Amino acid sequence: MIIVFKQHTKESDIEDVCKKIEKLGYEPRIIKGVERTVIGAVGDEQMHKSLEAFKAFDCVEDVLPIQKRYKIASREYHKESSIVKIGDRRLGNGHFQVIAGPCAIESYEQLKTTAEAVIKAGAGIIRGGAYKPRTSPYDFQGLGEEGLELLQRIKDEYNVPVVTEVVGVTHIDKVAKVADCLQIGARNSQNYHLLEAVAGAGRPVLLKRGMSSTIEEWLSAAEYLIVNGCHDVILCERGIRTFEHATRNTLDLSAVAIAKRETHLPVIVDPSHAAGRYDLVLPLSKAAIAIGADGLIVEVHCDPVNAVSDAAQQIPSGEFGRFMKELEPIMKAVNVAIE
Ligand code: PEP
Ligand code: MN
Repeated sequence: MIIVFKQHTKESDIEDVCKKIEKLGYEPRIIKGVERTVIGAVGDEQMHKSLEAFKAFDCVEDVLPIQKRYKIASREYHKESSIVKIGDRRLGNGHFQVIAGPCAIESYEQLKTTAEAVIKAGAGIIRGGAYKPRTSPYDFQGLGEEGLELLQRIKDEYNVPVVTEVVGVTHIDKVAKVADCLQIGARNSQNYHLLEAVAGAGRPVLLKRGMSSTIEEWLSAAEYLIVNGCHDVILCERGIRTFEHATRNTLDLSAVAIAKRETHLPVIVDPSHAAGRYDLVLPLSKAAIAIGADGLIVEVHCDPVNAVSDAAQQIPSGEFGRFMKELEPIMKAVNVAIE
């Protein structure tokens, strides 16, 4: 921790703080600047008491952490960009993936028609919710186990990896049997008990950013997964709550650039839940690729008008080929490719 003193702090106050820091098990290193004095307290915060309490001292201006809250996720820990495998697909460090499919699995026909179209257009991974975390209890909650069975059928028929969401600890095993990657949704992004349990399922995890999570909270959630045994974490920016209502959420593209700089994990973008309207999905996707995202997760439906959830934001499957074509020049420009 770094303890910053107020200007004109008396020597005796600085010495007093030094002694207290030592007593707590840290080694104080004093740095005297022209205007201010700073103490670097060297020691592992996990082993000793926190120094946050010094914030309340009259002579102290601020107490700042030196170490990141997320350590193993950080780029300092691992310089190279990580690659996460979803089934046989690689994501990260130049390997780009488009994950596409309906918001919710509604029927075999719906999933099959949509999957066929997105695979033909070049998407390498299928998405589809069997368990849906809905804001209202009166809304469609997903087909549950039946949805998982349909996902398994599509996976077998098309030999394609699948991503689906886990909404509770009770069905992790069931979902992990089918899914090549487990999705943690925005609403569960800070459900630490669920994160710990999901980390032990032996599958990669796609971690959405919570709609009100700071970047630090999002990366700390990733750290939860990693320290609990899941090293294959994909971060997903899906828009945050702001005062703006023209879109469902505000896509925070700077978070993508920051997450890529701060961590070694692949970062993907969900333009569908960010925009909430399908006319913006293409421009947001282009921007996401341009800023360095490692992939996209996009909602596509064979008949969006009749979709049981998120009807306004799903790309009609008949238009998905054009969507993918439009992304090509941007991918080329930033030197990434779907493999
Ligand atoms: C989803 O991807 O199906 C979903 C519910 O997204 P989010 O958690 O980002 O709202
Ligand atoms: Mn959705």
